[in-house]
Amino acid sequence: MTASSALRNHGEPGKPLLILHDVFGYSAFRQGQEEIIQTVLNGENVLAVMPTGSGKSLCFQLPTLVREGLTLVVSPLIALMRDQVAQLRNNGIEAGSLNSANSAEENRRVVDAVREGRMRLLYASPERLVQGAAAEWLNRAGVSLLAIDEAHCVSQWGHDFRPEYALLGEVRRRLGNVQTIALTATADVATRQDILSKLFDEATPRVFVQGFDRPNLYLAMQPKEALRRQIRQFLTKHVGESGIVYCSTRDTTDEMAERLRGDGVHALAYHAGLDAGTRARHQDTFLKEDGVVMAATVAFGMGIDKPDVRFVCHAALPKSIEAYYQEIGRAGRDGAPADTLTLYGLDDMRLRRMQIEQSDASPEQKIIERQRFNALIALCEAPRCRRQTLLAYFGERSEPCGHCDLCQDGVTLYDATVDAQKLLSAIVRTGERFGVEHLIAVLTGDETEAILKFGHQHLKTFGVGKDRGRQVWRSLIRQTYAAGLINLELAEYGRWSVTERGWAVLKGRETVELRADALRPKEKARTGGKLKPERGHNSDDEALLTALKALRMQFAREADVPAYVVFPDRSLIDMVAQRPQTLDDMANVHGVGQAKLARYGEAFLDVILRH
Ligand code: ADP
Ligand code: ZN
Repeated sequence: MTASSALRNHGEPGKPLLILHDVFGYSAFRQGQEEIIQTVLNGENVLAVMPTGSGKSLCFQLPTLVREGLTLVVSPLIALMRDQVAQLRNNGIEAGSLNSANSAEENRRVVDAVREGRMRLLYASPERLVQGAAAEWLNRAGVSLLAIDEAHCVSQWGHDFRPEYALLGEVRRRLGNVQTIALTATADVATRQDILSKLFDEATPRVFVQGFDRPNLYLAMQPKEALRRQIRQFLTKHVGESGIVYCSTRDTTDEMAERLRGDGVHALAYHAGLDAGTRARHQDTFLKEDGVVMAATVAFGMGIDKPDVRFVCHAALPKSIEAYYQEIGRAGRDGAPADTLTLYGLDDMRLRRMQIEQSDASPEQKIIERQRFNALIALCEAPRCRRQTLLAYFGERSEPCGHCDLCQDGVTLYDATVDAQKLLSAIVRTGERFGVEHLIAVLTGDETEAILKFGHQHLKTFGVGKDRGRQVWRSLIRQTYAAGLINLELAEYGRWSVTERGWAVLKGRETVELRADALRPKEKARTGGKLKPERGHNSDDEALLTALKALRMQFAREADVPAYVVFPDRSLIDMVAQRPQTLDDMANVHGVGQAKLARYGEAFLDVILRH
């Protein structure tokens, strides 16, 4: 038994809820939290697998406050630590971190608070902890709970293995097999097993696994038609909100940021081609200011813990279904509604396939990557609820969600056998040697230079698809690919070949259904001019919200913390809705605990009363 077990008390019933309200300002637990917290309070070890944004941190923060003693939190990234510490301190909780970026003054504060037994949550990187001195010092100070965030990093099966994490089992032993809670968003069974065996050699912890679903994310995907118009249309729903627009290359990222600025959006760029200083500055602005849109490559986002990202837009197709889910998962961590849109085109598909083929991965790895990529294409062209399709890929069964583009707009299928046969025939008759543009030229009867050069104007298939526009054929090609009738060969340029199933359709032995919305004529483009909000907002509410945001920014700048550390968006929105008239009213607003009430209550109340 360790010294810390003396500190384990189960807390009075009702105490967690009281602390949830008084300290954090939340009215109810989220799904899973209460049970995990109770298990920790019972003194058991825990492995919790919960999706991003589900509120994992509270599962170790709250028990710490119910009991006494110090909780040591292992976290892989300094930026994450800094944010969490700032948020805790702003809620009146003594917290700190051990990291190389600390000032001497900050280090002294941390050491003093630990020595005097005031420190409640101490964050440290695994590198720091595997050094003997730190472990020794902490052992003397006494740790009652070890919380290991991003615990999948201990596993070589996970997507983010970190060698220092593998040593955490040893750290745990040195701390006298202290009670431990490991947390991750990665649910994969092999990874889970690995975490258990690496961290808990003596006792099997209670394992909690929560579903993959992120119900507050709206899912939508569209084929690229007029990229600029589509992105503008999406952004008009999100004027003044924080969000990310993912682009595929450095150049397109810079262009996107530029273009958005032209539209009056506060946009910045982030990619590996920018120098470290610029990257850090842009990231900092995104974290701290309101309503910044980051045009970024996928280099951006790892370790970004901003809870109020309201949208993620993919201007180019992600690499795999896993990458897609991780990237859109950066939106809506606060649980409030968040919007996502993924735009995809044939050029992206070719690029991604090429990246897989040309990577250094082993042949087996490439097979897996191709499967992951094909699963994403199937999701893009899914004939039914996207969430259902997505969750099914992760092994979860669910009902149609009602919160995706396909549930909302509905999808009708039509018998596309004849269209598919025209396409397949064009591919076969041109010798399975041509890419999209040429095939479309054959189908629509367009006498391009290449058509004339190869004499393809004499083919029987030439012009058989005149009744359909080029965009329609593009969509039909993608869908035919998603349906497994054709294959993309990557020898020199993206050329298409016919699969076995494709031959069956071509010979009339099988039929195929595709989405009818592909046949619809598209809306006219509207570009130019500043973006204006689309929704019919109550302008009075809008004005108050703007005033509250301005005050929040002022506090955030003074304390040099991100705006959401002062109050998350949801708190301000709740203030607008409730219009508290007294400090007591204010205490009932979402996210207003006692510390924040004392610090900011008057000032925000003042703005509301004067409004
Ligand atoms: P995760 O680590 O699971 O991605 P966090 O612990 O960062 O998620 O929590 C995400 C956001 O949800 C944070 O802003 C947190 O304060 C908030 N949150 C956590 N629990 C609750 C709750 N019970 N009610 C309201 N908000 C909560
Ligand atoms: Zn749905």
